[in-house]
Amino acid sequence: MPILWRKIICPFCFHRYKASEVAYRCGNSRCTREEDTTFGTERGLRPASMGHVFRGAKKGAIRDAIITDTEAGCDLCGQPSRKRICPHCHFELSHDAGLIKDHAIAVIGGRGTGKGHYIATLVHRLENELGSQFNFSLRMLGDGNAQPI
Ligand SMILES: [Zn+2]
Ligand SMILES: [Zn+2]
Repeated sequence: MPILWRKIICPFCFHRYKASEVAYRCGNSRCTREEDTTFGTERGLRPASMGHVFRGAKKGAIRDAIITDTEAGCDLCGQPSRKRICPHCHFELSHDAGLIKDHAIAVIGGRGTGKGHYIATLVHRLENELGSQFNFSLRMLGDGNAQPI
């Protein structure tokens, strides 16, 4: 039950919200699966069958403002889930979203100016060179399995 003072800014839709407002996606394969229209609409995809989305239990206004849980029990099957997702676009948040200071970086440029090449090179350098020099690892987030319509 970490204490939390910051708000979360979603890296996908850029909505800003309190950590107590995050939703969860159930990961139990025996639980109800549902078409996630929010996930699909936000990405221009067909709704896909995904784990049930639910909200964490309310703890009261003051506790909600300063304390967050990083897991919650599914309201259908009771299984705990640590898959925290943005309540606005259902992007899966990192395990430490809201617990550490986040920095958003925008890469802006015209079509064909090398933004994708820059990002790919940056990720490669972080993974293969800088990570070992500074003793850190890199974990990718995102909707890697999402399929366009
Ligand atoms: Zn979002
Ligand atoms: Zn469930």
